[in-house]
Amino acid sequence: MSLKHFSHFLMGSLLIATCNFTVVTASYAEGAAHWAYDSSTTGPAHWGELSAEFATCKMGKNQSPIEIDAAHEPILDTQTPVKLSFNYRSVPLNVENNGHTIKVNYPADSGNSMTLNGKTYELKQFHFHTPPEHVLKTAQQSDFKIEMHLVHADTAGNLAVVGVLFDDSGVTNLLLKEIFSDAPKTAKKSPVIVEGKAINAADLLPVHTNPFYLYSGSLTTPPCSEGVQWIVLQQPLTTSGEQVEQLAALLHEHENNRPVQPRQARLVIKQQ
Ligand SMILES: [Zn+2]
Repeated sequence: MSLKHFSHFLMGSLLIATCNFTVVTASYAEGAAHWAYDSSTTGPAHWGELSAEFATCKMGKNQSPIEIDAAHEPILDTQTPVKLSFNYRSVPLNVENNGHTIKVNYPADSGNSMTLNGKTYELKQFHFHTPPEHVLKTAQQSDFKIEMHLVHADTAGNLAVVGVLFDDSGVTNLLLKEIFSDAPKTAKKSPVIVEGKAINAADLLPVHTNPFYLYSGSLTTPPCSEGVQWIVLQQPLTTSGEQVEQLAALLHEHENNRPVQPRQARLVIKQQ
């Protein structure tokens, strides 16, 4: 198969991949085994052993995050570009510190969605990792500090997650300031709904959402469920070193990034 035909085949495989797990919030469900990011017996190297429900963390062949090499991933045939578009609008700020991350929740039917090749996924939540989870190697050798995951699901529960990287070469990001200033300082079960404050996730997208990288992966937290369509944007956003420290402080200085996972047989495709 030529690369062109193989790309078509692969995209078909990626886009019809189905998996009937519940939406990502299930990873923080009551009663789930305790897990952590440190090097202890509950850390990432042991997630798969903590519970039968977490077995995919160890046995899975399509795990996330991965390393992406901007200069070497195959580029999709430009005759048939994969179209990515965002339809985000303002919602009241609902922010949570669940001990693993700072998470902004979206109500059902909020009218926030992402469309990938004509297939629509609704935005459920977004959250932050520091250091980043995906390792994106670029010619600029950027030193990324934060990765944001915008978690979407289609009506059948299939997940599509958009990864956006931040470096700390800039000034205060105003939307991050709004979110971090109202996030609970300690891990709580219930989110904080901030009266009178609205946020729009469109303000957390780079000006150019192309190029992007597509691959089939997993949740990066237990239960590490597979069948997740990943879209990692190449253009980063900038924040300040102070805001990176603010996020770390909210997470009580614990790093919340899962290490990169083996690619196995997977290809990552670049859409220019
Ligand atoms: Zn994440």
